[in-house]
Amino acid sequence: MATMFSRPSVLWFRKDLRVADNPALVHAARHARMVALYIDETAAPDRSPGAATKWWLHESIAELQRTLARLGGSLIIRQGEPETVLEALAREAGASAVYWNEVHEPECAARDKSLGQRLKQRNLEVETFDGGLLFPPAAIAKPDGGPYKVFTAFWKACLRSGLPDRPLRAPARLPPSPPCPSLDIDDLGLRPVVPWDEGLTEAWTPGTTAGLERLQTFAGQGLADYARLRDRPDLDGTSRLSPYLHFGEISPRQVVAAVVSRTGGGPPGSGPGEVLLRELGWREFAHHLLTHFPETPSLPLDARFNAFPWRNAYDEDLRRWQRGQTGIPLVDAGMRELWHTGWMHNRVRMVVASFLTKNLLIPWQEGADWFWDTLVDADLANNTLGWQWVAGCGADAAPYFRIFNPVLQGEKFDPAGRYVRRWIPELAGVPDRHVHHPWTAPSSERERYTASGYPDPIVDLAVSRTRALEAYRRLRA
Ligand code: FAD
Repeated sequence: MATMFSRPSVLWFRKDLRVADNPALVHAARHARMVALYIDETAAPDRSPGAATKWWLHESIAELQRTLARLGGSLIIRQGEPETVLEALAREAGASAVYWNEVHEPECAARDKSLGQRLKQRNLEVETFDGGLLFPPAAIAKPDGGPYKVFTAFWKACLRSGLPDRPLRAPARLPPSPPCPSLDIDDLGLRPVVPWDEGLTEAWTPGTTAGLERLQTFAGQGLADYARLRDRPDLDGTSRLSPYLHFGEISPRQVVAAVVSRTGGGPPGSGPGEVLLRELGWREFAHHLLTHFPETPSLPLDARFNAFPWRNAYDEDLRRWQRGQTGIPLVDAGMRELWHTGWMHNRVRMVVASFLTKNLLIPWQEGADWFWDTLVDADLANNTLGWQWVAGCGADAAPYFRIFNPVLQGEKFDPAGRYVRRWIPELAGVPDRHVHHPWTAPSSERERYTASGYPDPIVDLAVSRTRALEAYRRLRA
């Protein structure tokens, strides 16, 4: 790539921890020298990521460091407020420009705008790019200019505007970095002090290399059956790309390109890749909503739900839900999978969220907080959308009266009970016909699993369903 500028650039890495399809990186690499920067903001109280996110970040930054070194560059790690760090580093390096890819989270977006203005006042060129979404929120609007609140209409508008260009290639070499002091990655304290991360290590390899491998494997082997198997938690039917997409180790354009090349092109949104593209569409929709309704991580989009009669004293039930000790097998299996691996199957996410908000009448924000701390793919936009959708108070939400029955869901999507037995060894001896409702088994069989310590249900599913519908009726009244 031709060098166009003699003074160094600063490239600020955020949720784009990759070198391929990274528009800001391509721009920064036109300078003769380039400072690649990662700013650790985990100490900021209002932006504090969860424990699983920190674990992933450590591994991901470490891989990015190795990749940049291989390409002739290096990663400078600093801690603090981006404004202070960027100004200081640009001065130290004698840089003329700062580049980054946008993060479509309200707090970041507002902060970045004023940060950009301030850097420009310091005579720095500032340019920002879109690398994390297929359709940046500003590009999609209803004919009257307002934001979409219904997914189908939103996705149709996206597809009408055409799928984005092919992903950008990674630079073959990176410009060298001027000498700048850097923290050591271990200084960030992202790794757990008490080792609880064995399950995460078993389940995941963070970083672009593993993300791209997973994408290729899924596009080659999983995509054809995705539409048929994606609701089955007992099978490996989904891509498991969510953490790689969240941290920007792979880009959505790379996913689209892999899908299109496997399915032989065709009009956007049709053919075997259609269902997967649609799921990516939900990711786009989540960011669209978060941009336009920035208060929704803590407040319901449907303001009527501010007055919802949630229970007040629920600590013990919340704790049992978090630990997978509710006595409802599909719920407990999901919560244990989450605790162990930092991930949970989408179908089970819906079931555990419905159980918490409807059968237990515990506010959805409690569930969202727990997911935030424990998911490796914890994502402000997707998590907010998911919880509000299930709770019935979000955009295009499942109506409140739709209450998932965890027994029927288990029988339908985990028919032989393989998933629940995997995560609840106490149920190993319970026959298939009772595995999703062991409390109905004959007493001789019940004794076996109650002896193993597995609890009876903390609520009666039918009674708690009626109670939830009654609460909803009161809200509407
Ligand atoms: P696949 O089925 O292979 O889908 C491919 C990609 O599409 C995913 O990686 C993801 O980026 C996107 N996607 C799929 N479904 C959704 C969806 N419903 N909403 C938004 N994007 C989607 N997803 C997160 O990435 N982070 C979260 O914090 C998160 N919290 C959730 C909370 C609740 C209560 C619910 C119901 C869903 C949540 N989801 C979240 C959405 C979804 O469960 C996960 O994206 C999905 O399970 C990830 O697995 P996968 O990569 O195998 O998905």
